[in-house]
Amino acid sequence: MLYDCIIIGTGAAGVSAAINLKIHEKSFLLIGDADLSAKFRRAELVRNYPGLPDITGAALADAYLLHLQKMGISITDKMVSSAAVTKDRCAVFAGADYYESRTLILATGAAAAGTLPGEEPLVGRGVSYCATCDGGLYRGRDIAVIISSARFEHEVRYLAGLASKVYVYPTYAGAEFSSDNIVMMKSRAAAILSGEDGKVCAVRGTDGEETPVSGVFCLRESVSLSTLLPKLKVEDGRIVVDREMRTNITFVFAAGDCTGRPYQYVKAAGEGNVAAHSVIEYLG
Ligand SMILES: Cc1cc2nc3c(=O)[nH]c(=O)nc-3n(C[C@H](O)[C@H](O)[C@H](O)COP(=O)(O)OP(=O)(O)OC[C@H]3O[C@@H](n4cnc5c(N)ncnc54)[C@H](O)[C@@H]3O)c2cc1C
Repeated sequence: MLYDCIIIGTGAAGVSAAINLKIHEKSFLLIGDADLSAKFRRAELVRNYPGLPDITGAALADAYLLHLQKMGISITDKMVSSAAVTKDRCAVFAGADYYESRTLILATGAAAAGTLPGEEPLVGRGVSYCATCDGGLYRGRDIAVIISSARFEHEVRYLAGLASKVYVYPTYAGAEFSSDNIVMMKSRAAAILSGEDGKVCAVRGTDGEETPVSGVFCLRESVSLSTLLPKLKVEDGRIVVDREMRTNITFVFAAGDCTGRPYQYVKAAGEGNVAAHSVIEYLG
């Protein structure tokens, strides 16, 4: 199916864009965490959301979820590993799935703290963001997984069923796996190393220890913008947009924290609204 729009991200910006596209009866896919963004829920008290003077982030997220439900909007709970644009189409890759649309709204939140040294040059040379897509390449081999959320733990278990040994570097508290071939690392991953063949050969931990592996899966809440859509104009980690939320790529729009400061719910929701209207205008 060719959608009118694909929205990547389920924070305030992505949800707001989805609501407006729904009202204008456009076909679209809203891709992201079905529980909304982890950041969304983290605020203990939100004091600057008009009309809701003392709401928590979690309560606000639940209100957004209820709004989606009431409008019959569902979330496709997947991580997008990459997107591509042709002359008049967008292609979006999420796990083993592939979707096409006429427009794209990027609502992926503020750029993650960054990729590891060695990570970006080794994408496709041992570094992967998709267990389902690339897990089979590492059957019987040793791999590492850098995991940022319990949301991806099932992917670690899946990889453990294929790989000989899985070294897990969690960046969140409480990660636990029972499989014999899963090794929980005590330090964090500090760098991904390559061998003479230019492919991944090891992960160096923050304790300096190097663990030899053939592949590294980076399972995070976001993918770096240059990996997500290489042609996108990004400055200082933020997507460059105009007042209509247009990026440098025709029919690709962006909204929310990913376009820069201030990092606020209302600004994100407002930009999601503008992006949706720009999509509607583009579609004609
Ligand atoms: C502790 C804390 C307190 C805060 N307090 C306030 C406050 O009081 N008032 C206020 O206005 N703001 C506050 N904020 C800021 C507010 O949470 C953000 O501005 C808001 O969530 C931004 O919404 P967003 O939609 O742009 O991005 P996010 O909420 O970050 O959502 C982005 C979504 O995109 C998803 N995503 C990213 N990449 C991909 C991909 N490749 N595939 C699929 N999904 C992807 C992410 O998983 C996430 O679900 C606070 C933030 C924090 C952390």
